[in-house]
Amino acid sequence: MKKMTTVCPYCGVGCRLRLIVENNKIIRAEGAGGVTDQNQRCLKGYYGRNFLNNTRLLTPRLTRPMIRYEKSGKFVPVSWDEAIRYTASRLLEIKNAHGPRAIMTTGSSRGAGNEANYVMQKFARGVLNTNNVDCCARVCCGPSVAGLQETLGNGAMSNSISDIENSRCLLIFGYNCADAHPIVARRVLKARQNGAKIIVCDPRRIETARIADRHLQLNNGCNMALVNAFGHVLIDEQLYDREYVEKHTEGLEAYWQIVKDYSPEAVEHLTGVPARQVRQAMRTFAAAPSATVMWGMGVTQFAQSVDVVRGLSSLALLTGNLGRPNVGVGQVHGQNNVQGAYDMGVLPNLFPGYQEVTDPAVRKKFARAWGIDPSLMDDKVGARITEIPHLAMAGKIKACYIMGEDPLQTEADLGLVRQGFGALDFVVVQDIFMTRTAEMADVLLPVTSWGEHDGVFTCADRGFQRFEKALEPAGDVKRDWEIISLLATAMGYPMRYANSQQIWDEMRELCPLFYGVTYEKMGDMGHIQWPCPNLDHPGTPWLYADSRFDTPSGRGRLFAAPWRAPAESPDEHFPLVLCTVREVGHDSCRSMTGNCAVLQALADEPGYVQINSEDAGTLGIRHHDLVWVSSRRGKVISRADVSDCINRGTVYMTWQWWVGACNELTQNNLDPISKTPETKYCAVKVEQIADR
Ligand code: SF4
Repeated sequence: MKKMTTVCPYCGVGCRLRLIVENNKIIRAEGAGGVTDQNQRCLKGYYGRNFLNNTRLLTPRLTRPMIRYEKSGKFVPVSWDEAIRYTASRLLEIKNAHGPRAIMTTGSSRGAGNEANYVMQKFARGVLNTNNVDCCARVCCGPSVAGLQETLGNGAMSNSISDIENSRCLLIFGYNCADAHPIVARRVLKARQNGAKIIVCDPRRIETARIADRHLQLNNGCNMALVNAFGHVLIDEQLYDREYVEKHTEGLEAYWQIVKDYSPEAVEHLTGVPARQVRQAMRTFAAAPSATVMWGMGVTQFAQSVDVVRGLSSLALLTGNLGRPNVGVGQVHGQNNVQGAYDMGVLPNLFPGYQEVTDPAVRKKFARAWGIDPSLMDDKVGARITEIPHLAMAGKIKACYIMGEDPLQTEADLGLVRQGFGALDFVVVQDIFMTRTAEMADVLLPVTSWGEHDGVFTCADRGFQRFEKALEPAGDVKRDWEIISLLATAMGYPMRYANSQQIWDEMRELCPLFYGVTYEKMGDMGHIQWPCPNLDHPGTPWLYADSRFDTPSGRGRLFAAPWRAPAESPDEHFPLVLCTVREVGHDSCRSMTGNCAVLQALADEPGYVQINSEDAGTLGIRHHDLVWVSSRRGKVISRADVSDCINRGTVYMTWQWWVGACNELTQNNLDPISKTPETKYCAVKVEQIADR
């Protein structure tokens, strides 16, 4: 029996786990006293390891490389030599015929680890010579990075997860932490027990709303209007911190010019929130000695999401709630290594360490370190993962190399995504399971899973944490970075690493923000938050000390924008709004949690659609009836979950089911800046399948 320390592979809280391993099987997961988790785990932390031992997997584990030589043919098992030779030659052929930007690659925000992501973006930029590298955080947290970068100069969460319970006021907007991040929900509960005021803004009566001092039950699709109304009250009632705003921010006049038209009374018909409640909420927020603004995908999965993030961070700027302990802003990420994927530069606009691809000096630095000609480096921002369908159908992207992502399950408007992938000449999928995307691949490259390799993850509060290998892998699989290195070498760029640490050290040398975080130091301290610029630096629990922001002027930028309506409205044919949400027992595309026996038993296919009891009554639908849910893009089967916690006129589904995947219904209307789709709002109808 051995005990290995690791980090949970599911959400961005980064709970540390001790895996008890016997005969190459994980028999138990215990708490390992992590900084963010207080020795607690949620369901996924307890039971989410079973996919590694489960002998009755719903989805086959990929255990050997396979090629489909003809589009209509079957997968043929091949040797690693043949898989690498074939993939390298096809990628080179496409690059030579159509140029480097005809190939799209992805990193992985899940179990692959930071080292694999670093190597993937190096492969894209240094070998393929394209900035077409992205990750699935594009569909969830991208707007937070873009918005915070704009107002504060840094796209990451400004505070620490462990700080949340010490804040005296929590403004929680579009964030159902009880389902998305139960260990954060625990911190919220502790804050409440410590006397903090809790303000929840959410159309549903979510768990957090039950313990809130104020629940502002806004209408779906009007976030910007409510955030503007908040700003209006802060200025109109002189609740804002004048001295702080004068000293540390810019743009107050332009901000007021927008929010002056958004008095709570003027937008009450739109937001559905009584003006009195909006005013009271802001009085509470402004009066608190410390306040934290938290949001989730209820903010970021709209086509006006970056604006709302900028607006929410402006509330913290107006009240001086940045640059000191127990205050701050941010989104806790959905998947465990979203922050790491960003940190490692699997983004089309940034090298690792948040260095711009459009800066010639930065390109030169990376080119020199990687031993390539700087003139070969792509100097333009690359394509986003959500743009693949349109670019593929326009013939601009010919090949995709997908590592540890499942866009054919997680992207909006799956019919469109399938069409896009169908238009590609060549698809390579590197994964642990036969996902929906893997089913459409030309080459399958099987990899080690979380538990079978080591590395570093970054949790949502910028904390780097090492995770250990616990098991010997099953089958003829290789580590992600090992496969990428073999491909690079076969394509004429020799790439050899002996271990993860060597990759980490190469990355550190190129990234001043991370330089001080060594493997040894992480081993001793467990959790080190960047910036950590030198070897003696202890890490940074909260950003913007002395309220000096990372913007060119050093001041925070106040921002407001007029509200824009979602792209699609309910009508007589599709009278309800569909909003996608999370299921507490499952994660991401569900390839891992869906193969864990205990988690499967919690909620099985075809999933459910949450519907208000009055709406259900009008439609003649009873609890647990099978129903059709349809939009202009598709139709899926689901089970009705009738509840009074749901607001009228809107239904809610998780996007994680394989049968009844609600992304068949969602739309690909993208935020103009982050290119994140509006999966929180489209028009649908719900019909009972048959009378019982
Ligand atoms: Fe912690 Fe998130 Fe894992 Fe749950 S899923 S144990 S909250 S890291």
